[in-house]
Amino acid sequence: MDSTKMLSERIRTRAVELGFDLVGIAPAGRSRHAAAFSRWLDEGMAGEMSWLARDRERRTDPSRVVENAASVVSLGFSYFTDAPPSEYWDDPARGRIARYAWGRDYHAVVTPWLKALSEFIGIEAGSGTVTRYYVDTGPVMERDFAADAGNGFIGKNTLLIHPTYGSYVFLAEILVNRGLDYDTPAADDGATLRSETRVGSCGNCTRCLEICPTHAFPAPYILDSRLCISYLTIELRGSIPEELRPRMTNWIFGCDECQRVCPWVRRYKGPNESGFLGFQPDTCTPKLVDLMKLDEEGFRRLFRGTPVTRTKRRGLLRNAAVALGNWGDPVARPALESALGDSEPLVREHASWALERIG
Ligand code: SF4
Repeated sequence: MDSTKMLSERIRTRAVELGFDLVGIAPAGRSRHAAAFSRWLDEGMAGEMSWLARDRERRTDPSRVVENAASVVSLGFSYFTDAPPSEYWDDPARGRIARYAWGRDYHAVVTPWLKALSEFIGIEAGSGTVTRYYVDTGPVMERDFAADAGNGFIGKNTLLIHPTYGSYVFLAEILVNRGLDYDTPAADDGATLRSETRVGSCGNCTRCLEICPTHAFPAPYILDSRLCISYLTIELRGSIPEELRPRMTNWIFGCDECQRVCPWVRRYKGPNESGFLGFQPDTCTPKLVDLMKLDEEGFRRLFRGTPVTRTKRRGLLRNAAVALGNWGDPVARPALESALGDSEPLVREHASWALERIG
């Protein structure tokens, strides 16, 4: 085995030792969906996520992030958990929070592993090696590189799907300025992955496109963020378009509908060894009426250290008010009436909409 192959094998072994479920290595070329990404931006489908358009060239070309970038070590970590108890999950008096946010913020969990693996690469690859790592937040087309690295295929719901783990997977990557031994990339229409036994594709399936409550997929492999419940409940800072509110049911932070129905997701049954996730009724399906009563301190106390803090209190109460309006039970009236006096105009406006809907 030549030295590049040996180094690459050591990196793969170390990644698994640190806790990653997926590891693959791809060349750091221009990302395969760069042109499609640019069209998607030009059509306004990023909504208010203006930072995506700001650094579009950088995002599709790793050498603009790390000088002479040659390789991307693509990593993944499953956040699968057992299905939540129906008595909570199917209760319309409770809000639903997407699975990835059911516990400690994944950045806090994965970043130490990434740092350790980057240091390992720096030591093993020798002087002059430059690495830069990201989990979710960097200017990198991480799903493209994950597919290039044989870590899965990109599904019609636009998510990276691993044939074993499905799509409940956090992605991360390390850019490296030296050549490594590369894995077999997934094909665009599905994939023949690293090992011949790992074959995946969507085939004729269209379940995710059909189940989406807000019809956010104008076509397979294209997501219009402006319609996506994850975008509406997390990224959108202002008022939620009124015509979309009734379709959001009781999702108050993210949405898993297009993953829940996916056959690749449904076939995976664990084990979940992550040790930092798990269903907690009060934070994964909080009572909507209780949420409307949260002050800043109460919000921080309940969601400290979880991804939910991203919406801030005003965003979460906005979402909870929509869910209460969709529930439609007069029991919610006192909490909503009280929210009409909230210091945040955003909360007041959505509480007023919910009260009208309850009638
Ligand atoms: Fe592909 Fe079907 Fe999964 Fe959608 S639900 S990503 S179409 S396999």
